[in-house]
Amino acid sequence: MFTLPELQYEFAALEPHIDARTMEIHYTKHHQGYTDKLNAAVEGSSLEGNTIEEIMAHVSEESTAVRNNGGGFYNHSLFWSVLSPDGGGEPTGALADAINEAFGSFEEFKTQFSTAAATQFGSGWAWLVVNDGQLSVGSTPNQDNPLMDVVGMDGTPILGLDVWEHAYYLNYQNRRPDYIEAFWNVVNWDEVARRFEAAQ
Ligand code: MN
Repeated sequence: MFTLPELQYEFAALEPHIDARTMEIHYTKHHQGYTDKLNAAVEGSSLEGNTIEEIMAHVSEESTAVRNNGGGFYNHSLFWSVLSPDGGGEPTGALADAINEAFGSFEEFKTQFSTAAATQFGSGWAWLVVNDGQLSVGSTPNQDNPLMDVVGMDGTPILGLDVWEHAYYLNYQNRRPDYIEAFWNVVNWDEVARRFEAAQ
């Protein structure tokens, strides 16, 4: 059965960028809810024993419940890991080189990612993915992600940003761009770099 990953920081640790109440509700209610519903959908089915990545890869064959809740489980597990109270700044090393190669500069990457997050209509996610060593940026609706075989965007996500209103509305109300700007202060680049290496 799938279980919530343990948060590596307190709910209040990302303030003022992401507030404690939003973190608490997001983790204990939303992520727990996706996880419980995924388990209910998988239990007793042929999906038992599959990793979440395996389920994503052939999600076109599965129910809407598996698509939505499996995506919700995977996406939030990634999201918590790429946030840190010690985050922010810029990546270094091979990840920095790959960003410069793909986007020209870190600032241009930030602009493209922020635009993808801001212009995703309604609920969804912005992504930085690696595919055959190449980085690219995009967005997906609802709880879809680039691992799914129903999504036009391919690659392994190494950074994701939740732009559902539940991720920011308590603190930022309708000001999604302010939330996106604040997000850069808490990005855990060490974890993004680890995921980049692992995806190669
Ligand atoms: Mn969410």
